[in-house]
Amino acid sequence: MQYDPTNIFAKILRGEIPCHKIYEDEHTLAFMDVMPQVEGHCLVIPKKPSRGLLDADPAVLAHLMTTVQTVATAAKKAFNADGIQIRQYNEEAGGQTVFHLHVHILPMKSGVPMKPHSGKMADHEALAQHASMILDEMK
Ligand code: AMP
Repeated sequence: MQYDPTNIFAKILRGEIPCHKIYEDEHTLAFMDVMPQVEGHCLVIPKKPSRGLLDADPAVLAHLMTTVQTVATAAKKAFNADGIQIRQYNEEAGGQTVFHLHVHILPMKSGVPMKPHSGKMADHEALAQHASMILDEMK
């Protein structure tokens, strides 16, 4: 399958739509998921166009996972989480809905289940506050 540059994460990368940014470097961008399934649910994407894990350059994956580790460490502290779940989906049959490679970071608390996708955007003030809580832990 081809990479489609009209996907929403490509638009975020081009600055055409906003995001609650947590981290950015030469190769990656991290921001809050707008429909969080747990508090602090965030996403890391590579800047290089890749549809999913299977078509990505291994060097891209190396940068991506380095950023995932940095952001996950900060998110775990920011939300006082007991664990972190990392999720990554490929193609519609694999649960993917946005066709630009991304990794979900989900701070988990013991006994607190993950919510199903609400299909509704979270409050933007709360997302901004959560982004700044994670940012504070990266300073
Ligand atoms: P999936 O492709 O199933 O791994 O999930 C895509 C994720 O992107 C979902 O968790 C959505 O809530 C999230 N999402 C969709 N649009 C945006 C957006 N504009 N900003 C941040 N997250 C988004």
